[in-house]
Amino acid sequence: MPESGERRMIVRARVVATMDGAPIENGAVAISADRIDDSPPGSSPSRAARLYPSAPAGSIVDVGKFPEVSARYSGQEIIDLGEQVLLPGLINAHCHLDYTCLRGKIPRQKSFTDWIRGINAEKSKLSPQDYIASINEGFAEAKRFGTTTIANLTAFPELIRQLPGPPIRTWWFAELIDVRSPNRTNELVDSAIESLKFAQNYGLTPHALFTASEKLYQRCEQTGNDVLLTTHLAESREEMEMFRDGSGPLYEFMENIGRDMGDCGHETPLGLFVGALDGRARPKRWIIAHLNELTESDFELLEKVKTKFHVVHSPRSHDYFGHSPFQSERLRRLGFNICLGTDSLASNESLSLFAEMRAFQRSHPEISPEKIFEMVTVNPASALRQQNTLGQIRPGFRADLIAVPCREGRDLFGEIAAFDGEVDWITVNGRTQSTQSTSG
Ligand SMILES: [Zn+2]
Repeated sequence: MPESGERRMIVRARVVATMDGAPIENGAVAISADRIDDSPPGSSPSRAARLYPSAPAGSIVDVGKFPEVSARYSGQEIIDLGEQVLLPGLINAHCHLDYTCLRGKIPRQKSFTDWIRGINAEKSKLSPQDYIASINEGFAEAKRFGTTTIANLTAFPELIRQLPGPPIRTWWFAELIDVRSPNRTNELVDSAIESLKFAQNYGLTPHALFTASEKLYQRCEQTGNDVLLTTHLAESREEMEMFRDGSGPLYEFMENIGRDMGDCGHETPLGLFVGALDGRARPKRWIIAHLNELTESDFELLEKVKTKFHVVHSPRSHDYFGHSPFQSERLRRLGFNICLGTDSLASNESLSLFAEMRAFQRSHPEISPEKIFEMVTVNPASALRQQNTLGQIRPGFRADLIAVPCREGRDLFGEIAAFDGEVDWITVNGRTQSTQSTSG
């Protein structure tokens, strides 16, 4: 029984899919309501959180059958969501909200290098104010589609201080490129870290092997173990061609920029990365986006590698570029943690992870909808080292929850993946929020 005076909010739904055991029919969740943090995630703690520094603000305190939970907290406020399934909020493991405004601007290209030319041309037209608007629109859209946590890569970490506290839980990754200024690598990392102090959760992103130097990767790894790291790797055939064969459109493009091409013509992108990584980086620190283009020798290497890092796949961006089939099961069997992300709207049409689940399902019909749902909840929570706070509905976890309609007699996770709309009930950090977009 809660102590007298402690306020709980009981949320009841036809099913609660906890992702911690079997879904609970006629289930309910009790959320600590008297300690709900009324400040947006990413800002400093609210008065309530300061008054109760040891109490988790907006956390789940109980989960079970509705009659039992409501009996344990009799007299407390009950929200009945009716014929819906209550779910952990979705986690987008890879996104660039900077480019929300580029939706539909770059037609599909046969060449990845031509797409880079296309996005560079579009970016040259944008001002810092455009990027700020783009990021804010992106947050609002992600939230409308039920995303409560996002790993957001930004090329402009200096803009973070100008943004309002994000409406969803955000890991800001500063995306770093030193190919045009190889003598300023240290300065680049130091200034990014300075800007990231305005973010609650953050990490660093050496952009990719073709734009970030070995020194930049090393500098990022030399930061404290609490700084998460992510990068783009083995994304396109042209990247493979550049590194393995020392030729092709990306090779020529990068050579023209003035990149030192001495690391090309020998190894695959994965071979280069893992060769440098193993024995150096701490385990599980890297979240690797893509891994679309892997050779048989790459798979042999992945089998041997001690660091079984996290992998993010972006199904619709993958389709847009027409990359080689993503070897999800093979990677998973080798011990890699597979997550889904939307990537940016410069190669995708929306920030909906439901749409990503459906796209993944189409190309991987052998994988169950429940396993796919783990790729937007449990798996990315682990990649962000939040396996004890996010991605499941469990006592002690953060109250980041969403609800979508579900009908009796249907395959529950199949119906969840099929949900095609905007989520109209969402709670982040125990705060039920409107999913309507706001201005300013
Ligand atoms: Zn990306």
